[in-house]
Amino acid sequence: MSLNPSSPPDSPRSIRMHAADNVAIVVNDGGLPAGTVMPDGLTLVDRVPQGHKVALTAIAKDAAVLRYNVPIGYALKDIPAGAWVHERLLHMPDARTLDNLPKATAPAWNAEPLTGYTFEGYRNADGSVGTRNILAITTTVQCVAGVVDFAVQRIKEQLLPRYPNVDDVIGLEHSYGCGVAIDAPDAIIPIRTLRNISKNPNFGGEVMVVSLGCEKLQPERLLPPGAIPLQANEALDVVCLQADKHVGFMSMIDSVLASAVPHLERLNARRRETIPASELVVGVQCGGSDAFSGVTANPAVGYCTDLLVRAGATVMFSETTEVRDAIEQMTARATTPEIADAMAREMAWYDAYLGRGQADRSANTTPGNKAGGLSNIVEKAMGSIIKSGTAPISGVLSPGEKLQHKGLHYAATPASDFICGTLQLAAGMNLHVFTTGRGTPYGLAEVPVIKVATRTDLARRWHDLMDVNAGRIADGEATIEDTGWDLFHLMLEVASGRKKTWAEHWKLHNSLVLFNPAPIT
Ligand code: CA
Repeated sequence: MSLNPSSPPDSPRSIRMHAADNVAIVVNDGGLPAGTVMPDGLTLVDRVPQGHKVALTAIAKDAAVLRYNVPIGYALKDIPAGAWVHERLLHMPDARTLDNLPKATAPAWNAEPLTGYTFEGYRNADGSVGTRNILAITTTVQCVAGVVDFAVQRIKEQLLPRYPNVDDVIGLEHSYGCGVAIDAPDAIIPIRTLRNISKNPNFGGEVMVVSLGCEKLQPERLLPPGAIPLQANEALDVVCLQADKHVGFMSMIDSVLASAVPHLERLNARRRETIPASELVVGVQCGGSDAFSGVTANPAVGYCTDLLVRAGATVMFSETTEVRDAIEQMTARATTPEIADAMAREMAWYDAYLGRGQADRSANTTPGNKAGGLSNIVEKAMGSIIKSGTAPISGVLSPGEKLQHKGLHYAATPASDFICGTLQLAAGMNLHVFTTGRGTPYGLAEVPVIKVATRTDLARRWHDLMDVNAGRIADGEATIEDTGWDLFHLMLEVASGRKKTWAEHWKLHNSLVLFNPAPIT
């Protein structure tokens, strides 16, 4: 990456990601007017907005426009040097076929192990580690959501003050459970997502369920015998609202509160202990991306991903439509041909899923992405996959599956922020990192979310929503490496409960949103 001279701060600045690129992006707040002379002598022939691309040389009609040394499009007409290169000037390349992919061909990764880093966490009976100590109430169907909300409020007011070591009580509410084709093959995705979320490490192995009674997703189907460890003769803890014993609404609330007490007692007895950083399970994703996402925040997250993998931890990257155009790089980085095949299988499944809806990966980009300078999904994808760093990819999860081992994983999910976060929760994440350029107040009740701003302007305006300002990289005030290390240290602080994220501070919680590719009835 080359950053042209950064001082004084008001001087025209641009960033080129690779020496072979024929475009760079404009860094200055508010963009740069036509006639601006860049430090290398290039004169802008158009006004170029912040985050948008400027042609560094004349680009002939049909020639490739290169960013990250990858063709992000082909010129629809001759583009002069110094012109604003926007989406209307580009023809998007077709997606690469999934045939003849390189498999596990990348050179060996010789990074030094990183030792000695720890955090204070809650060790669970299954060996996983929580970063928070939360009572989560599993629900089988949306019908019970209002009752569960009411009960959670009561628990917070009447019970929680007696259990000071419990951080929170939440209802795991969702739109699934009835009115769905529950025997359709793809129904396994929402069902295993809910099952695995109930086992997220932040819930301490305590599972209580509120069910309606007549729903398709019966508690035994959601959590069949063996799905969660139970003591001998102990039954799954279920409050069924339609049970004959419930006479009046308050009797239902009383049942939920009575059921919560033993769980709260056990959670309250837990204490944080010193845990190696290898027990962190970090889900990374981006949302509200702009052209700086792939220049500042995502590369810093990628550097941090490498630190985490070197420390023996687990990192998941996701967002299938943002990986599709980089599949060749990804399968090359797989540790085995089988892992490469699994990635290609997830891509093929998703291509078919989008095809059933008469869409393709190009449906991913938003008006905000484009206003932020991202011309198309190819450009967005190249900036998105940088979050995965450089480590080998040692595992692949289908949507809703739970992690089985440590290391860098591709967890296949839609790029939709809430669905990706929900599926990473199911996989077992205990810490979430979210980068944003346009800005989103995203947060989850289940796990701390560290938000990383791509631009100083966003970090300044949203100073009490953004946890890290990676815009300092574009400002020439910090390096990708510094910012990656800062993020790593912040993760250990947040995981230990010594520091709250802004989303936790304000209690900003997005809903769980299930990925249900199966029919609704
Ligand atoms: Ca996303």
